[in-house]
Amino acid sequence: MRTKEAGAAMDSEFHVQCPYCGEELDIYLEPDVQGTLIQDCEVCCNPWKVEVWWDGDERSVAVSRGDGSE
Ligand SMILES: [Zn+2]
Repeated sequence: MRTKEAGAAMDSEFHVQCPYCGEELDIYLEPDVQGTLIQDCEVCCNPWKVEVWWDGDERSVAVSRGDGSE
């Protein structure tokens, strides 16, 4: 069965840069995820604060330090 939501599902991976170690990574976010969440860096294990919001009909993601040290 085909739905129009197939296009949105393709936007589930985001390229981000770790604010701690500077590593560039692709993160996967479920299509219904938005708001703010905490996720550990896969490289240095520091906590990211990941902010997800809708910008028109696509999502944008920003990563900042989740431990309040910025
Ligand atoms: Zn890192």
